[in-house]
Amino acid sequence: MNHYTRNDCEQLDQQDPLAAMRDAFAIPEGMIYLDGNSLGVRPKAAKERALQVIEQEWGTDLIKSWNTAGWFELPYKLGDKVAQIIGADAGEVVVTDSTGINLYKVLAAALTLTERKVIVMNGSNFPTDNYMAQGLLQQLGSDYEIRFAEHDNIMQAIDEDVAVVCLTHVHYKTGEVFDMAAVTAKAEQCGAISIWDLCHSAGAMDVQLNACNADFAVGCTYKYLNGGPGSPGFIFAAKRHHGKALQPLTGWWGHAAPFAFERDYRPAENIGQMLSGTQPILSLAVTEVGLDIFLQVDIKQIREKSQKLTQLFIDLMEQRCGQYGFTLVSPRDASIRGSQVSFNHEHGYPVMQAMISRDVVGDFRAPKNVRFGFTPLYISYVDVWDAVDRIVDIMETNLWQQPEFNQRGAVT
Ligand SMILES: *Cc1c(COP(=O)(O)O)cnc(C)c1O
Repeated sequence: MNHYTRNDCEQLDQQDPLAAMRDAFAIPEGMIYLDGNSLGVRPKAAKERALQVIEQEWGTDLIKSWNTAGWFELPYKLGDKVAQIIGADAGEVVVTDSTGINLYKVLAAALTLTERKVIVMNGSNFPTDNYMAQGLLQQLGSDYEIRFAEHDNIMQAIDEDVAVVCLTHVHYKTGEVFDMAAVTAKAEQCGAISIWDLCHSAGAMDVQLNACNADFAVGCTYKYLNGGPGSPGFIFAAKRHHGKALQPLTGWWGHAAPFAFERDYRPAENIGQMLSGTQPILSLAVTEVGLDIFLQVDIKQIREKSQKLTQLFIDLMEQRCGQYGFTLVSPRDASIRGSQVSFNHEHGYPVMQAMISRDVVGDFRAPKNVRFGFTPLYISYVDVWDAVDRIVDIMETNLWQQPEFNQRGAVT
């Protein structure tokens, strides 16, 4: 374990090739924001872009903007930008709808490609994925089955009965990474289809969907990609499935000729079939601002810095907060750790509330998980030092025991 000083952290910042990127983001003064894995901060340019849509495109040009401002093309245009971040090709990704809805669509589409009825999922995953699968299976009938597995038995769970392996690349609580290449290869060997949820890896890790020969993927843009609250998610479908794997929410935007207004549905033969209907243009326009920042940097540099930031945080927490009851939940091995660090703490909820009151913003996941996300584009090494410094003070002074930190809000 390295023993760091604040001065060491300053030096790491001086050598950081991504240091200048922080300037692209509006970070509240004094705040150390370790929750970019839940809601990314606002790119400064998002405000101007939103005003442009409100005043010019919507305010003045109105309906013409579907053509003149390229509104109709936004799901595709943004999809091509996301593709560059997740190792996909142009024409394989659209930005649309929410992650949950997109998961429903791709899972349904994947199941049309096979006679098999077993879906492998991760029982401890962020629950919406499992809920959506359960809702779909309810519609499809009782002979379908979800086979739940965890990181340590995932390979054994994949066999020749499996229709689809549907996993989240990085676990939302622990930050543990599934080996996408190995799991996808095993699925392929067994004749199963792979679906990856990239909510906690798009923008944080070097994802290589096509190099792994993945079949489908979904993810959100409001976490590491900084698209803004509730910004639309994305869908990846490998080109070999276009025109073949059809999703069932067959709205007019997924039609082969939306403006022919034909009576019957005819699927688009390209990634457009994954669309269902009219998209939130304001949100899409702002999402593009976040994506454009990523296109200026090398995702490998992001991953490298992310691993260093999380390691620094673990080392400092263990050196300086070891006696205060934090137990590391995230993997120690940086190669299988996403861009977040979680600890269990018996009093996780009030401890996190006290941290937030001191402008160290992470979040709490029941029953006792305190979670810290590290976004390499705007978190510095000195931020990590200062965050731990404040946490030491909170624990030393028992600040977290004050009654106000025990009152629960609706969103933790
Ligand atoms: C954040 C997250 C979601 C979000 O789903 P929404 O449909 O946008 O609410 C889904 N799955 C995982 C794994 C997530 O981390």
